[in-house]
Amino acid sequence: MPRLETLMTDDLRAFRRQAGDRHTAFKARGLKLDSTRGKPSAEQLDLSNALLDLPGTDGFKAQDGGDCRNYLGDVRGLPEARALFAPMLGAPADQMLVGGNSSLTLMHDLIVFALLHGVPDGTASWSAQAPVSFLCPVPGYDRHFSICEGFGIRLVPVPLTGHGPDMDVVERLVAGDPGIKGMWCVPKYSNPTAETYSDETVERLAAMRTAAPDFRLFWDNAYAVHHLTDRPHQLADILAACARHGHANRPFVFGSTSKVTFAGAGLSLFASSTANLDWARKHLSRQSIGPDKLNQLRHVRLLRDMAGIAALMERHRQILVPKFQRVQAVFAEHLDGAGVARWTEPEGGYFISLDVRPGSARRVVTLAQEAGVAMVAPGATFPYGKDPQDQNIRIAPTFPALPEVGLAAEGVALSVLVATSEAILAERESHS
Ligand code: PMP
Repeated sequence: MPRLETLMTDDLRAFRRQAGDRHTAFKARGLKLDSTRGKPSAEQLDLSNALLDLPGTDGFKAQDGGDCRNYLGDVRGLPEARALFAPMLGAPADQMLVGGNSSLTLMHDLIVFALLHGVPDGTASWSAQAPVSFLCPVPGYDRHFSICEGFGIRLVPVPLTGHGPDMDVVERLVAGDPGIKGMWCVPKYSNPTAETYSDETVERLAAMRTAAPDFRLFWDNAYAVHHLTDRPHQLADILAACARHGHANRPFVFGSTSKVTFAGAGLSLFASSTANLDWARKHLSRQSIGPDKLNQLRHVRLLRDMAGIAALMERHRQILVPKFQRVQAVFAEHLDGAGVARWTEPEGGYFISLDVRPGSARRVVTLAQEAGVAMVAPGATFPYGKDPQDQNIRIAPTFPALPEVGLAAEGVALSVLVATSEAILAERESHS
């Protein structure tokens, strides 16, 4: 594959025509492929089918004899569920709660409580201290951003570096603005770049001076156990690091079993300092008598312990690795050497992050969609849906079957070639 920038204009026109023909032929196949959201495939969901028969008509009693068909009244969830998931979040069991079916709901609700009531260490509610801002490492998770957008919280992008956010930028911003109350972090196998925050990044986030005494890290460890290699990334312990630096109340740690068992029908996890946990508990217990204990019981029976979780995640890995490899192979086949795109080779998580020529991502997504590949909206990985460089595209290879994953990647690669050759030609014409 020639480097497109180095082609003479006539050759580039020929290349553009040829790529266009291949794209048209692909389109004519009338495929319907889905690379939108990071959903598990049916084959992955089947791994947890035993949940559908649990806890069973004679297994609905909790460890302490409590009847899980009835109100039990502890908003922190079943003790055995807390004990099971505490090590997944790296928290003591008495500093965590297991909630309902969505960790996003927990994040949303804790933000609402902070806006309305304030958090421990705060002198007033966040909304009384408006304007409120959150730092957003980019590219990031669109649903984090939209929670804030819904409440008028300003989103301030911070570049990711490959080992977490650019800490020089973060430290400068949080030290200078008491309106910065929070920061979104997906610290392990980040969505979508798959990077894991380095020990130094974690240490600096724990130690940094914030102008806001009521600043919180929204530490969404959604991919804590979602390895794609046999060399799992190790993430430093944010709870311990913050406590060591005298900022025990800084981290709100979240987790989820949406991509362990059933998506949107699993469990949400939250761990934090005792003061934060008491605060969350107080507000959550006004909202609900308690989470779905039967679902917690089923999960305890299926997963048992961290070894059980690891064994299940290993089976997910067997299904996922070939899909990620297929995308890598197809991208390499079509794009290597053309100098038109860079993509990640994730070691965990659910996404491949594709960076195309600045100014081209929108066009690539349009072309891919025309070719039958449903993609997440361009810009979705940035606050307000606006990628200032128009270059990042999130590829989600987990949901379709393996052959479709390869076809979708081919549709995207052809779209990259068409969009890039078009863009270079347009640029040359505007200069001539
Ligand atoms: N956080 C991140 C980073 C995610 O990628 C996702 C999507 N699976 C979620 C949270 C959603 O989790 P839940 O289903 O528990 O709301």
